Amino acid sequence: MTDTAILLDLAILNARLIDGSVVTIGIRDGRYRVIAAADQVDAAGALSTIDAAGGLVTESFVNGHLHLDKVFTLGSVGDAALEAYVGGSMGSAMTSIELASRAKAGYQVDSAKPLIRKALDDAVRNGVLHVQAFVDLDAAAGLKGFEAVQAVREDYRDLLDLQVVAFPQDGLIKDAEAMALCEHALRHGADVVGGIPWIEYTDADAQAHVDWACGLARETGKRVAMLVDDAGDPALRTTAMLAQAMIDNDLIGRGVACHARALSQYPEPTVRRLIGLAHRAGLGFVTDPHTGPLHLPVREFLDAGLPVALGQDDIEDAYYPFGRNNMLEVAFLAAHLLGFLSVPDQHRLVQMITTGAGRVLGLPAHVIAEGNPANLCVHAATRVVDLLREHATPRWVIRGGAVIAESEISSAIHRS
Ligand SMILES: [Zn+2]
Repeated sequence: MTDTAILLDLAILNARLIDGSVVTIGIRDGRYRVIAAADQVDAAGALSTIDAAGGLVTESFVNGHLHLDKVFTLGSVGDAALEAYVGGSMGSAMTSIELASRAKAGYQVDSAKPLIRKALDDAVRNGVLHVQAFVDLDAAAGLKGFEAVQAVREDYRDLLDLQVVAFPQDGLIKDAEAMALCEHALRHGADVVGGIPWIEYTDADAQAHVDWACGLARETGKRVAMLVDDAGDPALRTTAMLAQAMIDNDLIGRGVACHARALSQYPEPTVRRLIGLAHRAGLGFVTDPHTGPLHLPVREFLDAGLPVALGQDDIEDAYYPFGRNNMLEVAFLAAHLLGFLSVPDQHRLVQMITTGAGRVLGLPAHVIAEGNPANLCVHAATRVVDLLREHATPRWVIRGGAVIAESEISSAIHRS
């Protein structure tokens, strides 16, 4: 025994780490106190115990990008926006956003709140305990989406962490009200300065959009997260604009680029230049290949050492009809869409929803290691391939050392 004097709050026995080793995990005061072979840990005196029975233990899941204010609104928006967004090579993505915006007139805080709760219940149940949540701020929606998310957020403070992004969905230059709305949201609880520069009508407007958002992030000490180059147009360059503005505004390592689908159509030399610039800026990426026909060149970016996370993006809204805040399901879909089927690629997928995603969102301590916060999932699956294949609800979800969700899935075959 190495540390017999330790009184553990929780001991997880027979826990299989992602490298295949089986250990006992001891947690005290919300943090990993000891992670070692069973004969090295005195678990007998732990206040509570879980037997993982050889099941995998992972960090809790991270959803790098979710439009939380819009969950389950597809019924009220109609299918036209969805058809425009995903049709062909995404040439009409801007039309889709304009159609979705028109439907916002009917958005109400009170009707949105139960939908947001449902999405967050799904997150907790599925072990997704960090969500970067985009909330629309524009002339059509006003502050309604932000108010709905903030109200619900209070009720979930003990269950998961939201990074709320003040997001000018209809542009900052195109929409004259958006800047004031974003500033208001950032003064009243939003965590991250958002942006969507590619949607502006000119490159000069896109540059002004990026400069305004990054300047505000520098002033307020907040991070920045933008939807960049989200259409089938290889001439779009707002990802590079964001990276350069991060460098210019002392935001190195504090910015995230989402979507970035146009990069899949860039000539290779342009991709290489961007990879170099993204390294210099410490720019992280979130991709959601299940929500459109194009996606970030993920393998090239990971091979180049850039941090890439997966995002759910949408849950039954104008841009995607499915989704249930299950990041293992998102990883399973990405496995097919990215061609990530080999064992090393399966491990990469898990990193893109756990530790790698933590890097993207500025959470470097989101790693199962002694001293770090104990936010984790205990799974029934004993192999990574089964974890992805089944994308099942975790057996136990633990936050700050406390069990916050527990699921048991059973079925029986009745032979006659
Ligand atoms: Zn999105």
